[in-house]
Amino acid sequence: CGIVGILGSEGVADKLVDALKRLEYRGYDSAGVATIVDGKILRRRAEGKLRNLELALEREPLAGAIGIGHTRWATHGAPTERNAHPHATDQVAVVHNGIIENFLDLRELVKSGGAELETDTDTEVVAHLITQALQAGKTPRDAVADTLHRLKGAFSFAIIFKGEEDLMIGARRGSPLAVGHGDGAMYLGSDAIALAPFTDRVTYLEDGDWVVLTRTSFEIFDESNLPVTRPEHTSAATA
Ligand code: GLU
Repeated sequence: CGIVGILGSEGVADKLVDALKRLEYRGYDSAGVATIVDGKILRRRAEGKLRNLELALEREPLAGAIGIGHTRWATHGAPTERNAHPHATDQVAVVHNGIIENFLDLRELVKSGGAELETDTDTEVVAHLITQALQAGKTPRDAVADTLHRLKGAFSFAIIFKGEEDLMIGARRGSPLAVGHGDGAMYLGSDAIALAPFTDRVTYLEDGDWVVLTRTSFEIFDESNLPVTRPEHTSAATA
């Protein structure tokens, strides 16, 4: 339902939760964040209100200068902590808005490649498809591009990778996603409102686009994987 990604500085978990609060009005049933600490992907997730996620983060704080966050409106799988996003393997963490229509076929595909599925969601297959592509020797961007081509349905994603503390990939098809440009920081949001506390400079992805972000650069590709430029706007959303 709501997506936020931040490539910034230490203490990113609290900023992710603050940004998710700005998307609360859209409704949700669970929430979660993932960050990278010492190269490893770590997660906190909770059923129900963002307050529950905040309490989980108070009990077990999450460090990290890069992270993704999600408020979920369940379409496949009950609204439990186990089914809450981010979905992750030890290689990648993914947040997703929308529906992967061919997820049943893709579940069988990743299972035959050795994946052990832990959730009832349509989203989890995406983490496994990317992981299996990485294991086959692909770079993160090629692994994501390959995976996007296998998906039917509507989505936006934010994705982070084990050992990559200056890399985030976003994608959109049928579900909105914006890049926020900071000063030595970069953001993703399903709505510019979520990014208003951080920046008013936003670039909206067009349908089929995907984007590779570092703290100081962004490269947008269309659905044929050709580089494209999209205009930067000054967001009307206010902090
Ligand atoms: N289809 C995904 C799920 O049920 C994402 C739902 C959403 O957009 O929040 O987990």
